[in-house]
Amino acid sequence: MPPRPHFLVLTFPFQGHVAPALRLARRLLAAAPDALVTFSTTEVAHRRMFPAAKPDVGDSDSDFDGRLEFLPFSDGTEAGYVARSTATNPDAFNTYMASFHAAGARSVGGVLDALAARGRPVSRVVYSLLLPWAADVARDRGIPSALYWIQPVAVFAIYYHYFHGHAAVVHEHRHDPSFQVQLPGLAPQAVADLPSFLTVSTEPSDPLHSAFTTLRDLFETLDRERPRATVLVNTCQELERGALAAVGAHDVLPVGPVLPSASGDEDAGIYKPDDDAKYMDWLDAKPAGSVVYVAFGSLAGMAREQLEELLLGLEGTGMPYLCVIRKDVRAALSSEVGGAGTDQALAPLKNGVAVEWCDQVKVLSHAAVGCFVTHCGWNSVLESVATGVPMVCVPRVSDQRMNAQLVEREWRVGVRAQVTDQGIAGLLRAEELRRCVDEVMGDSEAAAEVRRMAGEWKRAVAEAMGEGGSSGRSLMAFVDGARCAV
Ligand code: UDP
Repeated sequence: MPPRPHFLVLTFPFQGHVAPALRLARRLLAAAPDALVTFSTTEVAHRRMFPAAKPDVGDSDSDFDGRLEFLPFSDGTEAGYVARSTATNPDAFNTYMASFHAAGARSVGGVLDALAARGRPVSRVVYSLLLPWAADVARDRGIPSALYWIQPVAVFAIYYHYFHGHAAVVHEHRHDPSFQVQLPGLAPQAVADLPSFLTVSTEPSDPLHSAFTTLRDLFETLDRERPRATVLVNTCQELERGALAAVGAHDVLPVGPVLPSASGDEDAGIYKPDDDAKYMDWLDAKPAGSVVYVAFGSLAGMAREQLEELLLGLEGTGMPYLCVIRKDVRAALSSEVGGAGTDQALAPLKNGVAVEWCDQVKVLSHAAVGCFVTHCGWNSVLESVATGVPMVCVPRVSDQRMNAQLVEREWRVGVRAQVTDQGIAGLLRAEELRRCVDEVMGDSEAAAEVRRMAGEWKRAVAEAMGEGGSSGRSLMAFVDGARCAV
């Protein structure tokens, strides 16, 4: 019998990276019934995904008969990176990344060697975007690798061209938000909409500077691949046809948007949802398309004034709303005002409910949800497009402004809110939120058109991901390539 293809899927320990990596892992298993997958993230994240497991030991998923195994690697720290600890220690992220890169590369090498010694050798390493060394670790052992890009291919194209001859023009105009940068094959982009890691984080003093250096290393790594680098992207041809044509140097395969498995339940994640009943029963009692769902992902913080304006704006819409305010955000708000913080701020909720974490895909799939107020993390955007829910975009850092542009201008499935200029997070005023919600949920012709487009894109994405669809074919091409090389 020929050896079975075995994919080692490696990911950075953030929820927005773990979720699409795990969804891809499950799709690889479904696409190739003989394949094995080992899923690997840091020990700290692994313990949060599997709290009952013994420390630092693997776990397996019985749904896949032992074909899916979870084996952590070490980032050299005891506690990992605590989201937004840069607020109190500006060096926190950059210090963490130095340890992550050094210890991670060593530890992943050990995982590959241990799997080979167990008679379960890896045939392809698939690594998400903040682990550029993974390709070198694999290559040293003669194993081919593929990058898994979990942002739009448009953003990949921007980074690619920035690191291939266009850094100087961006650097020169980095303080001029309206300056239009022209990159090959792409529409002109305002400096303000470029990924913030290319405009703000290029300064060595920036708290997220190592995101910039890591991405620089990543694009250098891809250039070292022979004959060409393989890049799987969590997008589909239909969503990003133009941008796909703008990166010819690598083999770019759109394989998304990956969603949770068919059971409808979200995969093991770093955060655990509140009791389903709390919000699903509440949603069940609401009319179709009437609820505003609000969530800003797994990392973004919120100042007290932002929360107050948000709740005021939501009450002002007159619509019922479901709002995610994470535990760590509540804790930060409480310490800000000496104890009573969030409870006090949440006390006036009349028309809505607040949860600490929910199963977002399940919520977006509920017929009662009529719009999604989002920070435009790429997973959130894809989940909203796939479920046909129009968006109100409140982008902040990284790729989020670019993602909002795709939502508003390219697919026309949402509107972008204007925020007042208070640092990078911005402040969304209550009145602006109310106006934007009306633009996607109201009675105007424009709002009806946004809802119609959301329905169209939902269908297009379902087709891409369905049997014989464009993303399914790309994934099969990748799996077949891995099989040939076994
Ligand atoms: N998410 C969730 N429940 C919540 C809030 C977010 O399941 O209450 C998930 C969401 O479905 C998405 C991920 O967390 O898959 C957030 O990723 P995204 O790229 O949108 O943003 P990030 O957290 O990376 O900023």
